[in-house]
Amino acid sequence: MQYLCYHTHNLFCDGKNSIEEMVQSAINQKIKAIGISSHSPVNFFNKWSISDDKTKKYREIISVLQQKYEGQIHIFASLEVDYIPKLTNTNEYFSNLLNLDYTIGAVHLVRNPNNGGLWFIDGDKKQSQNNMLKIFDGDYKFAVKSYFSQMREMIITQKPDIIAHLDKVAMNTIGVLFEEYEDWYQNEVDLTLQEIKNAGSIMEINTRGIYKGKWHTTFPSPKIIRKANIMGIPIIISTDAHSTSELLSYYKEAAIIVHEAGYETISFYKNNKWEQIPLLL
Ligand SMILES: [Zn+2]
Ligand SMILES: [Zn+2]
Repeated sequence: MQYLCYHTHNLFCDGKNSIEEMVQSAINQKIKAIGISSHSPVNFFNKWSISDDKTKKYREIISVLQQKYEGQIHIFASLEVDYIPKLTNTNEYFSNLLNLDYTIGAVHLVRNPNNGGLWFIDGDKKQSQNNMLKIFDGDYKFAVKSYFSQMREMIITQKPDIIAHLDKVAMNTIGVLFEEYEDWYQNEVDLTLQEIKNAGSIMEINTRGIYKGKWHTTFPSPKIIRKANIMGIPIIISTDAHSTSELLSYYKEAAIIVHEAGYETISFYKNNKWEQIPLLL
């Protein structure tokens, strides 16, 4: 198995270890490549994203470590860029500002297009649901549809290299408010997969929900991974590690899931572009 961790967090955002600790631990765990991808700055106060005045330092440290650990591991500069219509800077802006190798696009806050309210899809389950019902006036279908529509808008307008946790919206909604097999939901998934295909983006298979005990499988689900495989959408496996101990959490299990879904290759970043290499189990 080749371990490639393109989506990781650190002390610059809501991670628990320094960038160098993440890199050293990755080397010890025989990880071939690590992408440093803090949450991008946003223009409102929060506890999870990198602050605007620290971005230059962030990039400098990555450059220093790239030289220091050359020959031991590939280190890439990235950001997990939040997309909220009318509120966030573009992926291109961050890419140019920090000379990033690639960007990861994510939706964590869903904007109600009618009233501008924001629903945080993560966090405590009950709190997230109540928040959603309040902002979307009790209409959970509209809330979930707005999530996917915002995701598609991000894919079309930002063209991120990697699409983060495609169906994370399921975590606090599916099994309580509706089921995954429902037609209206699968229709949103299909439309979104089509935009990923059109944009030529990579879909990540994210294990964080499993090891945090918040979800029973990967984001996206095996059902969605099978659809993506049929469409020829490239993938990576991400643990979305926020600490050194999470760098490879459920990585092997995810590799088996994608293999069972039909995937035989995985994306690999080399010489400033993405290639496909065999998926080893
Ligand atoms: Zn995320
Ligand atoms: Zn993340």
